[in-house]
Amino acid sequence: MTDCLFCKIVAKEIPAEVVYENDRALAFRDINPQAPTHVLVIPKEHHATAAALAEADSGLADEVLKAAHAVAEQEGVAEGGYRIVFNTGPGAGQTVFHVHAHVLGGRDLTWPPG
Ligand code: 5GP
Ligand code: ZN
Repeated sequence: MTDCLFCKIVAKEIPAEVVYENDRALAFRDINPQAPTHVLVIPKEHHATAAALAEADSGLADEVLKAAHAVAEQEGVAEGGYRIVFNTGPGAGQTVFHVHAHVLGGRDLTWPPG
């Protein structure tokens, strides 16, 4: 997608603080962090939402989840607990329509999230 912010980050056209990368997934720090650890994990391939990713049937959703786990380990939040959030659709607050998992940790996380 030529007009997608996160595709541009994948293409290195827009800078980001990358913390993890493999063939199919990329993870970088959120520009407006909501917790000491706030990393966005995306598939390099463009899919708009988690729903679209789930329907793609490519094994890519699995790759994103594995990358999120690797990020949590690397950030040192895996043991204490962390949250993986996919805001899916405008009603859930999704603003960037290239699917991304928020990996949040490093502080006490309350429930419900609001
Ligand atoms: P959403 O609201 O779609 O679930 O999350 C989008 C996230 O992307 C937000 O947390 C926002 O701070 C982050 N974001 C928006 N633009 C950029 C950017 O240019 N770089 C980075 N690293 N994060 C961004
Ligand atoms: Zn994209």
